[in-house]
Parts: sequence; structure tokens; C-alpha cells
Amino acid sequence: MRPARAAAAQMACEEAVAAGWAELSESGSAIDGVIAAVRHLEDAEACNAGRGAALTEQGTAEVDASLMRGQDLGFGAVAAMRDCRHPISVCRAILEEGRHAVLAGEGAWLFARERGFSPEDLIVERTRRELEARRPELSEEPGTVGACALDEYGDVAAATSTGGVFFKRVGRVGDTPLCGCGTYADNLLGAASATGLGEAILKITMARYCCDRLPGGASEAACSAVRELTARTGGTAGIIAVRPDGQVGIDFNTKTMPFAVGRHGESGFELISGAHAPPDDL
Ligand code: ASP
Repeated sequence: MRPARAAAAQMACEEAVAAGWAELSESGSAIDGVIAAVRHLEDAEACNAGRGAALTEQGTAEVDASLMRGQDLGFGAVAAMRDCRHPISVCRAILEEGRHAVLAGEGAWLFARERGFSPEDLIVERTRRELEARRPELSEEPGTVGACALDEYGDVAAATSTGGVFFKRVGRVGDTPLCGCGTYADNLLGAASATGLGEAILKITMARYCCDRLPGGASEAACSAVRELTARTGGTAGIIAVRPDGQVGIDFNTKTMPFAVGRHGESGFELISGAHAPPDDL
């Protein structure tokens, strides 16, 4: 990201943690926390999700998102859904209905309209300019958003939302709505959310790869997932994860990845944030 956009994304991350924290404190539920955080990021134009989502080669906005509940492995996702500002909330409705796990394209809208959602214009000045300036080469436009949370009952949850990769084919689906690729949560292991090149991430089912290794340490699990991705695919990516005991792991193989962590410190709410270096154990 260019510096101005990275600074805006960093600020959005910190605000998202505060929004997630407020919801988590109010309702006590990890699912509510990750949804509040991701909705905030879907509204942040600097991020590649909701308003500000990367555009397809036809100049349309098609988003992917998923939500997973660690308590019962409940999963809800949408794929290639046009003009949806808060796809993470549609994921919640799918998860809660429990009949299907993933809805795509027009079918996702048939369901969402029944639940009171309506399409909105997601194109912003930045994405319009990018489309004009960078057509026709296919290039990766980062900025997928994600959140993981642990609540007081020991339940974990993860949520991820994206516009996908810039100048993608219409109908392209990335890692984000695929269970275990962009998102995974299991109370026995922890929760993880990934960002980066979907075509690489899905090859190693990165979020599940990370969760499987969480019992050995959160930082180690995140590092190991990024190492595996780099070694096996050469792709770029980052991952955030939380364990059932609250340990947090973050790693990325890009120069920067804005992140923020909120938790109970000795004197109440503590915010840790950064972008340039993956932190050691948190
Ligand atoms: N993972 C997203 C995708 O490939 C893109 C991103 O993280 O920026 O759809």
C-alpha cells in the first residue's frame, strides 16, 4: 500500500479493535466482536472490503466473506456477491440459518434480500482511479480485512471480508469464503484469518494449517503457516490468530501488514498495534 493508504488502514484497524472490543464487552460473544470489527473495516475506504473493494476487469465490485464459530464449527460464507457493503453480516445470517454454508452470486442476493439487505455502490474514488490507471494488467491489490476473537466463555470466532484481487475475472472466488483457507475457528485449537493471494492461500488451506499448529504456540503457528505458504507457493500473505488461552500470533511475508490487538491488560483495555514487523508472542 502507498503510505497514505497504509496509515488510513492502520487507523481503521485500531478503530475496528475498539469497535469489536465494545461489542465483546457488551454482549460477551466472540462472534459479535469479530462482526463489529469487520463491519468497521468494510466501511473503511482504505481497505479492500465493502466500500473500497477491489474491482473486477469489468469494473464491478464482487465481494467474498466468511465467518466461523469455534464452539460448533458453524460456518457461513458468501462468494462473488456484487455490491454488498456488509457481506460479513450476510455470513452471519447464513450461519444462523444453518441450512447451507456458502452462497454465491445471485443466490447470495436472493437470500440477503429476504433478510433485508440491499445492494450499495462500493466503488470509491481510489478504486475507480486504480481501474483506469492499471488496466489491463492483473495485479494484486491488498487490503483484505479480518478479525479473530476469544470471549470470556472460551469461545473463539474468526471473520474475513474482501473484494478479492484487483482486476480479477468476474466470478473469480478466492480463499476468503472457503472454509479453512481464509478463515477457521475451532474452540479446541483457536481461530485464524488470512490475507494475501487467494490462489496461493487456498493451496495450503492456510487458516486451518495455522490452527492445527496453535497448540504449539501462537507465534510459531502463524510463522509456520507463512513459511509453508512461501515455500510451497511463493505467494505473499499474512495471518492473525488467537488461541483459547488468549495467546495471539501474527505473521506476514510482506513489508507491512497493519494489525491491532486489544485485550485486558493490568490496567484495563490494552491496545497493541503495528504494521512493519510481526510481533513476538503476545
Ligand atoms: N485473499 C484475498 C483474495 O485472494 C485478497 C487479499 O487478501 O487482499 O481474494
